[in-house]
Amino acid sequence: MLALSARGILPKVDYAIFADTGWEPRAVYQHLDRLERDIATPAGIPILRVCAGNIRNDALDPDHRFASMPLYILNQDGRPGMTRRQCTGEYKIKPIKKAVRELLGYPHPARIPRDIFVEQWVGISTDEFHRAKDSDVKYMRNRHPLIDMNWSRADCVKYLESLGLADTPKSSCLGCPFHGNAQWRHIRDTSPEEWTDVVTFDAAIRQGNARANATGNRLLGQAFLHRSRVPLDQAPIDHVTAAEWAALQPQLGQEQVDVAELEQGVSDGCSPWACRGGVEPVQDDFGLAS
Ligand code: SF4
Repeated sequence: MLALSARGILPKVDYAIFADTGWEPRAVYQHLDRLERDIATPAGIPILRVCAGNIRNDALDPDHRFASMPLYILNQDGRPGMTRRQCTGEYKIKPIKKAVRELLGYPHPARIPRDIFVEQWVGISTDEFHRAKDSDVKYMRNRHPLIDMNWSRADCVKYLESLGLADTPKSSCLGCPFHGNAQWRHIRDTSPEEWTDVVTFDAAIRQGNARANATGNRLLGQAFLHRSRVPLDQAPIDHVTAAEWAALQPQLGQEQVDVAELEQGVSDGCSPWACRGGVEPVQDDFGLAS
């Protein structure tokens, strides 16, 4: 959308906002720098980088409140569970709203008059029509220009290719539990340093986040980044069939497994105002939000 706006195919936006969780893959930060240098700045579009903290550091800091990631849980009795996802709201939606309020001249907690609002573009293509949602506040009105243009994901990829941006990476936290096996393998096989980083983090959150433990709110079970509830460096991240999966993880037999989702992850990046479908927590947050 930024390129479409910069090239005049869509109207020129006043700003583009990137909500930084502090733990994106290196390739995403490099891509963002390239977009800014080659596309946004020449068109006079400022990119605002907003941040509510570093999700990785916050999870491991006993003195910091942590908004829970959607971790896979193995309860003491062997039943699988999942923690509530609060991270998108905390690390993406909140800092974007704060920036928008400031741009409008009504920083929190000022009351914003009804007729003052921004038009916010959300990049959802026609294949993900069901993810297009209204904003939950009156000062932001969501629009979905790609859907208005009837562009599919393939159309977007074709356009990026025409701009020399065929290698545009997917944005999400490096250790997002929503990754499919393809993403985990990509990290393992292309970036040893980032693989060590996620494996280390996975081990560090096994007993829940640091703050919950420090406040006596212990996780009754174990937490994992991979859906198999196996430590990431031992998890079955190479191609698995549904039968192999069931054999590997008999205790997870009750969980519905979609092999495509195992491989590709829960569709697309973690996008504010476009919650992923199909990922409802089956357990509460075990105090991981404390
Ligand atoms: S990418 Fe994953 S871990 Fe990061 S904020 Fe989104 S849901 Fe949470």
